Amino acid sequence: MTRVGVNGYGTIGKRVADAVAAQPDMELVGVTKTSPDYGAEAALRRGYDLYAALDDRAAAFEDAGLGVAGTLGDLLDAVDVVVDCAPSGVGERNRPTYEAHDTPAIYQGGEDAAIADASFNARASAEIRDADSLRVVSCNTTGLSRLLAPLDEAYGVEKARVTLVRRGGDPSETDRGPINDVVPDPATVPSHHGPDVNEILPDVSVDTAALKAPVTGMHTHSVNVTLEREPTTAEVRELLRGETRLFLIPEARHRRRRDLKDYASDLGRARGDFWENCVWEESISVEGRDLYLFQNVHQEADVVPENVDAIRELTTDVSREESMARTNEALGVGL
Ligand code: NAD
Repeated sequence: MTRVGVNGYGTIGKRVADAVAAQPDMELVGVTKTSPDYGAEAALRRGYDLYAALDDRAAAFEDAGLGVAGTLGDLLDAVDVVVDCAPSGVGERNRPTYEAHDTPAIYQGGEDAAIADASFNARASAEIRDADSLRVVSCNTTGLSRLLAPLDEAYGVEKARVTLVRRGGDPSETDRGPINDVVPDPATVPSHHGPDVNEILPDVSVDTAALKAPVTGMHTHSVNVTLEREPTTAEVRELLRGETRLFLIPEARHRRRRDLKDYASDLGRARGDFWENCVWEESISVEGRDLYLFQNVHQEADVVPENVDAIRELTTDVSREESMARTNEALGVGL
């Protein structure tokens, strides 16, 4: 049984906590909050032990009537691994604390790749040995790695070109935008997303360009991959259909991106989460050696099963395939 702590209980942290709690081979020891807000109360109501992320805030929780089991240091001493889900850049500030407590750590994609011994994607990462820390790559990098790895294995990727239409902010981020525009972000091309994919797939040539749009639900990727061989459209569809973390949206079943979120909710998935990439089946088409497709990535959710697999990667000898199977089974990943 791997004992896990989650430091930072926001968009990603609360999902990772639930996913860990759902694994038969893991125990969620507790989660941290910086302040006694509704998230802290919700964590307690879910039965999770709460720890103060910052030592000097512990009294504020008690004053608010929310009992804490201790502070971050206590949590780190009680776990085999901590999953850092603090805001971008804060993970770097937390790193010395994890190291001082000798606690292996998993970081998120908002941190620089150099923060950890290796960047991680369960489907696409090469073998990782003797790591004390891992960085689960960002939502976009996760989505692209899951797609490009099987294409490269089956047909060879000569060059991938991807335009990312990114959501302006998460549904909870009411201060983000744009609210009435589509904005190049970053305006320079290629964007940083391609190099981040190379942290996982160093030999795959990929250029990316990114925009931000006034939507909150998902990112959309417009993908063009020049392959080394020339498969048929049907062969590519079958290849991608065989990947458990890719969901091929049946032709004419879901016309709109909004339908996907409704579908996930109607299936009873907490928060309407889509852990799989959503690839529009009818968009998959091959012209010569050029493959085209659209996919959507639920930015709040796709990294969640990857964090669970990263925990096993860091703390056990369980194989990548076995870990993915266990995670998929426990969460219900794979439609
Ligand atoms: P978030 O702001 O929703 O949640 C972060 C949480 O950490 C908040 O509850 C915040 O109060 C708390 N926190 C602040 N300072 C802290 C500290 N010192 N110690 C512990 N907790 C602290 O952020 P998020 O969207 O969950 O992002 C977390 C990480 O995941 C970032 O690296 C981000 O880049 C990455 N990520 C985010 C998304 C996304 O779409 N939201 C997708 C993939 C990866």
